[in-house]
Amino acid sequence: MEALDSVVEHFSSLPTIGKKTARRLAFHLLREPLEQVQLFADALVRMRESVRECEVCNTFTDAPVCALCASDKRDRSVICVVEQPTDVMAIERTGDYRGMYHVLHGALNPLDGVGPDDIRLQELMSRLGGGLTELILALNPTVEGEVTTQYIARMASPLSITITRIARGIPVGADLEFADDATLSRAFEGRVRVTV
Ligand code: ZN
Repeated sequence: MEALDSVVEHFSSLPTIGKKTARRLAFHLLREPLEQVQLFADALVRMRESVRECEVCNTFTDAPVCALCASDKRDRSVICVVEQPTDVMAIERTGDYRGMYHVLHGALNPLDGVGPDDIRLQELMSRLGGGLTELILALNPTVEGEVTTQYIARMASPLSITITRIARGIPVGADLEFADDATLSRAFEGRVRVTV
């Protein structure tokens, strides 16, 4: 059944979805009404066509500039640097942070060949000018996150900006987006200066 195999293949190419789960999802769709499956397929295509990266912070948005960057209620003197758009959502859920964001879409990983030009570091540099007083580095507590934190801290150290990192309340190796709100709030509150 080539059509079925193809769907299983697509599902199992998604993160955290193994072959077994992929097959279960495909079988589930086989029992759904055709119209339902059509709506699902259309939603996927519509999402891919309409969602893009914000021109300022690179998070996902359906407008040229995202709602956070467009808002006049945010503090433009602080930028929080994160790896993924899901991290922005996690931090926004805590409701404590009122500054701006910068999404790198990854972290430096020399072993896997992910260098400074492969993530949005140049774009970050170009935002470090006028009026910025603090750069908060909120990368994942992984080796890659650590390498990236040090890289950015060195890159920004000649500028007169306070560079901080969130506290280490987040379990090592875990993703920021999976930290609970209270832990994330504490990590923000307890942020410390980065020294290079
Ligand atoms: Zn934005």
